[in-house]
Amino acid sequence: MNYQAIIDDIFHKVQPLINEGKQANYIPALAKVNPNQTGVCLKTLDGREYSAGKSSERFSIQSISKVFSLAMALSLEKQNLWKRMGKEPSGTAFNSLVQLELENGIPRNPFINAGAIVVADILLSHLFNPESEFIDFVRLISGSSTVNYNFSVARSERSQGYLNAAIANLLKYHNNIENDIEHVLQFYFLMCSIEMNCKELSNAFLCFADHKKAFDYNGVFLTSSQVKRINAIMQTCGFYDESGEFSYLVGLPGKSGVGGGISAIYPQRYAVTVFSPRLNEKGNSVIGMKFLELLTTETKESIF
Ligand code: GLU
Repeated sequence: MNYQAIIDDIFHKVQPLINEGKQANYIPALAKVNPNQTGVCLKTLDGREYSAGKSSERFSIQSISKVFSLAMALSLEKQNLWKRMGKEPSGTAFNSLVQLELENGIPRNPFINAGAIVVADILLSHLFNPESEFIDFVRLISGSSTVNYNFSVARSERSQGYLNAAIANLLKYHNNIENDIEHVLQFYFLMCSIEMNCKELSNAFLCFADHKKAFDYNGVFLTSSQVKRINAIMQTCGFYDESGEFSYLVGLPGKSGVGGGISAIYPQRYAVTVFSPRLNEKGNSVIGMKFLELLTTETKESIF
């Protein structure tokens, strides 16, 4: 498969969409990002790399970090994790409070904010030094020792994070948070603030694409069956209230973030990341969605 030619071709085809959608501005620091950029990187399990545009430009990975925090929490808690959250698509916005109230403080899945806030709480309970252990894990799987948090983005999000604070309070009320709420929120926002580029993210997601072997990164251990299941949750819950649409149009497991990134995997073959900050009304990158739809259409490679 000539992935480079296909990527170059699609890169061209999606450029007319560059002004569609709006970048996230509810996190003040993200409103300052240049919205008119696109980066792509596809990495194969046999070590090839194909890229286009701003593939080395770091951006705020936001909710893409929820895949990494889930991997760590699942390796620590195993089956017990599912006592504290579900694994069903939510069908509501990522920051919705309504469903959490109706379902007595048990988030639908680990990829909506409520679920990821419980995951942050789990990491705080288990890890001796959560902030450094988490970033070390992300550095290891991305193959980049310079990947880091952006503390000012985290502070900027905390300054306006009233809805996530409400979610954390509701979780605490239902005894689904063990630690101090402020500490949990700060750690959650910090994980969201990590900056990576398309190449680094594709490296990290390759670890999940290789689901036939166990995942073992410096003590974060998942069996191949657990990796398969993380992929299943990406497939059903990775794209907010548009997970069905992404599955329908693209047909790959993946995860998006409001920083404009989308990482997706074709199991046993490749991981691909697209970055373009303008989002559709569901919070997914307009160009990212279109790019991946065209990629699986033109290559005829998807899990379906
Ligand atoms: N930090 C963001 C929030 O909690 C993450 C949102 C996202 O990327 O989905 O609102």
